[in-house]
Amino acid sequence: MRLLRRLRAASLLMRFGVISLVLTVAVGALLSSVLSDAIAERARQQAEWTAIVTVRLGLQPQLTPEDFAQGFDPERLARVERAVAAAGENLQAEGRQLDDLDPVELNIFNRDRTVVYSNEHEHIGSTSTSDELDEVLAGEVVSGFSHSADDSAGSEDGERVMLEVYVPVRYEGSATPDGAMELYLPYAPVAAAVAEDVRTMTAVLVASLTVFFLVVFRLVASASAKLRRQADALRTSAERDRHQATHDALTGLPNWELVRDRLDQALAAASRSDGEVALLLIDLDRFKEINDTLGHSYGDKLLRQVGPRLQSVLREGDTVGRLGGDEFAVLLPLVDGVGEAEQVAERLREALHRPFDVEGVSLDVEASVGIVLSPWHGTDTEVLLRHADIAMYVAKEVKAGAVVFEPEEHVTAPPRLTVLGDLRRALEGTGELFLHYQPKYTLDGERIEGLEALLRWQHPTQGLIPPGDFIPVAEGTGIILRLTEHVLDLALAQTRSWIDVGSAVPVAVNLSTRCLLDPGLPDLVGGLLARHGVPAALLRLEVTESAVMGDAARCMDVLQRLHDLGVKLSIDDFGTGYSSMAYLRRLPVDELKIDRSFVLGMTTTAHDAVLVRTAIDLGHNLGLTVVAEGVEGAEHVSALRDLGCDIAQGYHYARPMAAEQMSELLARVGTIHEGSVPLV
Ligand code: C2E
Ligand code: MG
Ligand code: MG
Repeated sequence: MRLLRRLRAASLLMRFGVISLVLTVAVGALLSSVLSDAIAERARQQAEWTAIVTVRLGLQPQLTPEDFAQGFDPERLARVERAVAAAGENLQAEGRQLDDLDPVELNIFNRDRTVVYSNEHEHIGSTSTSDELDEVLAGEVVSGFSHSADDSAGSEDGERVMLEVYVPVRYEGSATPDGAMELYLPYAPVAAAVAEDVRTMTAVLVASLTVFFLVVFRLVASASAKLRRQADALRTSAERDRHQATHDALTGLPNWELVRDRLDQALAAASRSDGEVALLLIDLDRFKEINDTLGHSYGDKLLRQVGPRLQSVLREGDTVGRLGGDEFAVLLPLVDGVGEAEQVAERLREALHRPFDVEGVSLDVEASVGIVLSPWHGTDTEVLLRHADIAMYVAKEVKAGAVVFEPEEHVTAPPRLTVLGDLRRALEGTGELFLHYQPKYTLDGERIEGLEALLRWQHPTQGLIPPGDFIPVAEGTGIILRLTEHVLDLALAQTRSWIDVGSAVPVAVNLSTRCLLDPGLPDLVGGLLARHGVPAALLRLEVTESAVMGDAARCMDVLQRLHDLGVKLSIDDFGTGYSSMAYLRRLPVDELKIDRSFVLGMTTTAHDAVLVRTAIDLGHNLGLTVVAEGVEGAEHVSALRDLGCDIAQGYHYARPMAAEQMSELLARVGTIHEGSVPLV
């Protein structure tokens, strides 16, 4: 491919080279012809001038007007011939290159056109009828070429070219010319001088045009090479972006988008050829255990080995993709019935059963596989995927290994099993997923400090499903990552519209543990902030205490990079986990949210009251803002105020509400950040 591009670029340069060469040669030829003509004309004029000078200075003073009027007697004739010879010598002495002038070929006419002198004496006395003579006798100098046969040894073409110049002769006192002289000058020396000049001019022209052409060609060639290098670099980065968009960062396998794309294509091809397509969803059974006992880095290394293992038992056209977490998909675009799909599933499971070696630790992995076949279990991607999900969950529940989807049994499967399939569909932007916002107030209830975005799912048949019912299910698979991206997208779009109407208010989004383990999260957040044009300081991410403490070292890196972006971070549900002071101090968070269970109980249970007090003191000692969640009554507010709590969130102030209602509330109640956050 690259070679082809090079060749194409080279041939383009060649084409430029040839065209510019042809143009340069054409310009050269034109210039050379114009200049040659100019040189020849100039030489002719010079020769003409020489003739005039010869006549006026050399010959005319030797003669008298009477010589013209009366013709020459022999004595005069002899004088004239001497004068002519002297003129020839004079000219030679002056170096006028008229060495052929001797003997000068000369005719002298009087006013009556009669030849009064000619070096060919027999012409004397004859009358000329030449038209030129009229012009000369009217006072003009006339010149032209005359050609005659030449049989002398020096002649190359047997022709002798002479410059024939007629010069009027006028003596003082005459109103009109007294006569005229016709002088023949040999043109050969002039022609030689012209040829010499033309040769020099041509050499200079060729040399300068060659240099010009080479310089231009070199400039264009180097500019074209530079452009080509830039284009190559752009192309490589575009290819990399395209690869990143369609492949999973951890394993390099096709991601869900690409698998889905290929499934679409396979379904279209199968419908034309009446073929069958199989989709297998594979979930590793003990993966969580491996992650929990050995740590995530072992988990990641194991996941990287799974793809090649699966591929090793598949055919070339089959696709292995990672959907997220420990969930993989295998697409068989051409399969011969359920039996073959089951055999492939068995082969895949066997391949995974062989122990994996992760840094010297031998790991056994079991997998559950859900199998669907088009057209038997559906003919569109969504339906097939939902059914594959169900089959996979049944396989997991009954520990059956591989399970083929059974329409009669599985369609009535418990709702939990269909949640994932439905959630995948809802994520396609059907509008079923949306956000409610709950304000966080200063304790006096006067101003809003920020908002928390809370996810809501309006299911088409089951109505409003609370986040507690589907988020934990999503957290069990890679879907949570896409769900989080969706929530961030919605929240930032809304934040931007509030900025646009003059209510710049910080919005908090909840993050699952799983997201904190994804090294791609900071880039994702950075990209979304940029896309929506929201300053990082207006986004807050809430992470639960237990999430961070689970794998603190790994979360720390992601949290630190988020913090570096300028995003604010909170510890959510504080009090429900077991925080280590040491870690709390190191986390780049600036807010602590006391879990609502303690706040609700603080006015009735001593234990909760102590915990809330301790949490507030701890938060303040670490320099954090302390937020009390679940503030339902006025008694909580006064107790919290006594303890010096900073911010409160709860039904006492406002319940979570739709964005439109929140806009009205923001228009009524000011935020404490007004004017303090730099906007883009
Ligand atoms: P959370 O982050 O602790 O959110 C606060 C929850 O407390 C919300 O429940 C809110 O409606 C509820 N709440 C607020 N004030 C009061 C009050 O005065 N009394 C009582 N009893 N409850 C109050 P919600 O909306 O049902 O959300 C439950 C949990 O679901 C959230 O707890 C959060 O952990 C999770 N969640 C919600 N949205 C998302 C999301 O987009 N992504 C993730 N990963 N989790 C989310
Ligand atoms: Mg929260
Ligand atoms: Mg909370």
